[in-house]
Amino acid sequence: MKESSKPLRVTSKIGSKKITYFVIKRNVKYPRLEFRGNFLCIVVPKDIKNFRYIIEKKEKWILNKLDFINKILERNKNLTNKFIIFGVPTNIEKFQSNLLSGNKNKVKIRNFLRHILFQKIKNIAEEYSKKFGIKYNKIFIRNQKTKWASCSSKKNLSFNIKILSLPEALINYLVLHEILHLKEKKHSENFILMIKKEFPNYKEIEEQLTNYWFILNNNYWWKNFS
Ligand SMILES: [Zn+2]
Repeated sequence: MKESSKPLRVTSKIGSKKITYFVIKRNVKYPRLEFRGNFLCIVVPKDIKNFRYIIEKKEKWILNKLDFINKILERNKNLTNKFIIFGVPTNIEKFQSNLLSGNKNKVKIRNFLRHILFQKIKNIAEEYSKKFGIKYNKIFIRNQKTKWASCSSKKNLSFNIKILSLPEALINYLVLHEILHLKEKKHSENFILMIKKEFPNYKEIEEQLTNYWFILNNNYWWKNFS
């Protein structure tokens, strides 16, 4: 996703809380609020002058959301500094020196991680593709800022590189979810039925994915290497 200009960093008071948010000017028709990691962003049309009212209108929603995120981060403090691979916290230095012979080059590390995840996802995708009789085209590992995964009209599947840190059950779920979207675009009844067959506990998985979203976006390692 290309941003048209550097995000503007703004600190202001919301209720009694001082918070920092980013203003992103982009080719959009209407302004919208979103959380990227634990940062609040307002995406606004390029020519907009006043965006403070958007924040004021949504004050309650923002404060609730911030509270929700902070609680998740507080509960998972132990995962902030560790690199997590397939759900298992690993010592960063040990991981680097064991697998990368001490190579600290960011691009190389990223490519290496991308490769591990690509292989993993490919295996899972092939299995589900056969099982459900749904064909996909290519798999991409990307550095997505706002979502775990997506699919395109060309039947390509894209996955967020941070998925590498998720436990296997969650990765399986995300892969199946995208493959099923090739057949059924929306989260229709039929879509949910197919999901439920494979993951009766999909609601719990979705909840875990939400937690991991904020944990990983706040994780030291991913903040530096993604
Ligand atoms: Zn979906």
